[in-house]
Amino acid sequence: MLAGPSVGDAAQTAIAHGAEVVYAVESPVLADAPPDAVVAAAAATVAVAGPRIVLGAKTLLGRDVMPRLAFRLGTALASDCTSLALDADGRLLATRPTYGGNADATVRCLGTPAVASLRPGTVDALEADPARTGDVVAVDAAIDASVVRTRSVERVEQAAEGLRLEDARVIVSGGRGLGGPEPFEQLEALASLLGGAVGASRAACDAGWVPTSYQVGLTGKTVTPELYIAVGISGASQHMAGCANAKAIVAINKDAGANIFKDARFGVIGDWAKVLPAFAEQLHELLD
Ligand SMILES: Cc1cc2nc3c(=O)[nH]c(=O)nc-3n(C[C@H](O)[C@H](O)[C@H](O)COP(=O)(O)OP(=O)(O)OC[C@H]3O[C@@H](n4cnc5c(N)ncnc54)[C@H](O)[C@@H]3O)c2cc1C
Repeated sequence: MLAGPSVGDAAQTAIAHGAEVVYAVESPVLADAPPDAVVAAAAATVAVAGPRIVLGAKTLLGRDVMPRLAFRLGTALASDCTSLALDADGRLLATRPTYGGNADATVRCLGTPAVASLRPGTVDALEADPARTGDVVAVDAAIDASVVRTRSVERVEQAAEGLRLEDARVIVSGGRGLGGPEPFEQLEALASLLGGAVGASRAACDAGWVPTSYQVGLTGKTVTPELYIAVGISGASQHMAGCANAKAIVAINKDAGANIFKDARFGVIGDWAKVLPAFAEQLHELLD
């Protein structure tokens, strides 16, 4: 489903990426995507399309919309899934991290339709092929402005500080082990060398060393980069809940028993103040 005041070229983009049918819901009420209106648009689309499975992304909007959509459809939601499969009866098997990321649980969705939200970054879109063809079905959702029960009173733009953590393919993250805000400058330099972004543990954010928007974890952001470099981070389960699905974790920690090494593909046991400059120097040599 595509929803907005005007769907425009997005339908063709979705088809190029593999959609066979695009359901387009157009309404001025959908400007700025208020969750109430998006739930109404999605429910109308389900009524038209009659799917067996409804998938959404666990983005900020998806966190709001998907549980309400499931409730409206009289079914249950498997939230924050990292992989999906079908059982022999064609029922959805949804795998999702549980216990703060310490275990994976696979649930069989018995409701109809099955509704699940996927953690962003866990599946790759097909390569765009402009030659692909598909249908665009206009859904008349007749969304009345009165369905929107929230009102934006102010919009505050956060100063753009480079790449968003959620979009970064490389993240260099710092924790309490850095000892203060200054070392984050070294992390910024390393991140920019690798074309990535800087993240942090809650301890570093709570200490005021970096803004809370940097926080990765259970109560912070969920990220799925190709490479996650954790510097002076112990690897508490609440932190790992936000980054355990990174393709590769590299840990720099002076404590050989630190939990982070259980998840790390590569680990350096040592003082970050010595390891990080040497690492950056090697990188410079490789990239120059
Ligand atoms: C409900 C709840 C939600 C939470 N949500 C989150 C969350 O979203 N994100 C999150 O991060 N945390 C979260 N936490 C907090 C979490 O439990 C940890 O307290 C926190 O992640 C610890 O941060 P840290 O690893 O930076 O600090 P610490 O646990 O103190 O670890 C610091 C590490 O740095 C290493 N170190 C010290 N000096 C050096 C040095 N010179 N060189 C190299 N290594 C060094 C130490 O060996 C240690 O392993 C949550 C907790 C609760 C209860």
